[in-house]
Amino acid sequence: MAVPNKGRLHDRTVDLLMKSGLDLGEDWGRKLYVTAKNQDIEIVFVRAQDIPEFINSGAVDLGITGQDQIANSGCKLEEVLELGFGHCRLSVAVPESSKIKTVDDIKDGCRIATSFPKITKRFFDAKGKKVNIIEVSGAAEIMPYMGVSDIIVDLVSSGSTLKMNRLVEIETLVQSQAVVVTSKKALSKSKSGIMDMVNSIRSVIEAESKKYLMADVPTKKLDEIVKLFPGLAGPTVMNISGRDDMVAIHVVIEKNDVYEAVNTLQKLGAKGILTLPIDRLVQ
Ligand code: AMP
Repeated sequence: MAVPNKGRLHDRTVDLLMKSGLDLGEDWGRKLYVTAKNQDIEIVFVRAQDIPEFINSGAVDLGITGQDQIANSGCKLEEVLELGFGHCRLSVAVPESSKIKTVDDIKDGCRIATSFPKITKRFFDAKGKKVNIIEVSGAAEIMPYMGVSDIIVDLVSSGSTLKMNRLVEIETLVQSQAVVVTSKKALSKSKSGIMDMVNSIRSVIEAESKKYLMADVPTKKLDEIVKLFPGLAGPTVMNISGRDDMVAIHVVIEKNDVYEAVNTLQKLGAKGILTLPIDRLVQ
């Protein structure tokens, strides 16, 4: 499995793998590859932009990278899980003072600085425009200021870097987030191993948006409370020994609903309300 060795996707990717149950050992941070201590899986730490090619060539079976990198590579790969982080878009941006307001205004010979030369070329080829692509490995935003290019194709998330460099977006080539990606070939060879990994990561992501809530509630309010918590399969209701005026409920709820749920339960006479994090959730 290939994992970004640095950059924006690195920290959260490693966090997800560890929470999914992979034991990378103690000094994984200084290594280029590690063999998980508890599973038959080897992790290689490489650049996010190289991962699509490595999967395509069969050097690795799966990886985590941005959809922008997959799109740029042009490789036909299988995106098996969206990870909900690393959101950004690859956009055409022009200086605020430029006469170019839409892609149609871009003339043949226009100089475009980008770290995404392949997808940029395909995009402008498809529009029949003969542009001059200048490949840079970063800091594309300052290229118009330096006179290196007229416009850029670059990643945008909040848009503040563009603003700081007096650039405006005129069109988006691709929307992106981090994904687990594999290939048809790898799936045909080791589908169950790959899907075990994917399902583990999915269960961590699902669990992170939820909380486990426990409370002792008045028996006479139980019907009302059950309706409030449709939960995954409704609350689990348990007797409390020696009490017939109270029962215990356990339920999985959305993190965002915790505030209201606790207040409502309190108003209905609940006692001993606890909320706990969930490590993994397999539905
Ligand atoms: P990096 O390794 O830091 O150059 O970035 C790797 C990936 O992070 C990119 O290919 C995108 O998928 C993702 N990313 C998310 N937001 C941004 C952003 N604002 N700028 C650059 N990369 C981003």
